[in-house]
Amino acid sequence: MRVLIYSDVHANWQALEAMAAAVEGRCEVSLCLGDVVGYGANPNQASDWVRAHSPVVIRGNHDRACALLDGIQWFNPVAATAARWTHANLTPENAAWLQALSAGPLPFHDFSLVHGSPLDEDEYLIEPAQAAGAFAATTAALHWFGHTHLQGGFTLADDQVSAWTTVPPDAALSARHESVALPLRPDARYLLNPGSVGQPRDGDWRAAFAILDEQAGQVEFHRVPYDVATAQARILEAGLPPRLAERLAKGK
Ligand code: ZN
Repeated sequence: MRVLIYSDVHANWQALEAMAAAVEGRCEVSLCLGDVVGYGANPNQASDWVRAHSPVVIRGNHDRACALLDGIQWFNPVAATAARWTHANLTPENAAWLQALSAGPLPFHDFSLVHGSPLDEDEYLIEPAQAAGAFAATTAALHWFGHTHLQGGFTLADDQVSAWTTVPPDAALSARHESVALPLRPDARYLLNPGSVGQPRDGDWRAAFAILDEQAGQVEFHRVPYDVATAQARILEAGLPPRLAERLAKGK
């Protein structure tokens, strides 16, 4: 089966539309690792699309905060402002759906899905030592996680954990749809992050997602351009903090 895995849409409808167009007819199922809402200006459109297309959705910290105002005290002022705005603008149906999402980890086929880390839904997996702890405490050969908005992940092979990213430093970024393939080694274990659809922070502004080809034993990491100017205009029109619009152009 070809499986679309995506995360951190953050109510960015223009980015979500670009991903949907790019994967049209290419995957049998799609899975979402959370943070459907928060930051962006289209929480209901984003929620409606994810509800209609993804049979498995993990909750993110922003989904929890926007639906229930839970955990908002840990947010920076910009994120807290966006969570309050989203809370006030969600339809009752979408708020109820977000509240009912699973904390994860959830199994799907022979891999595992989480928002932050297999050990803590709110942990940011950044360092190889953190990944080593998660590998040691679990058995799945492949975990998918989100939350950091960084496309890439960690490989455990020959008793060594290595971190890697699909965005090389100082790379000249293209504005076209591009993908990188990762053949999965049968003797290795993986923690993989599809990156963020709606608010990338790895220096590449394009919407990020991944496709797992189970038969081929391979993952494709994709980046697609989207209409950043319209997403920014919607954020400003909604009265959300301008910083949330500015950062989309930089992917930071
Ligand atoms: Zn997020």
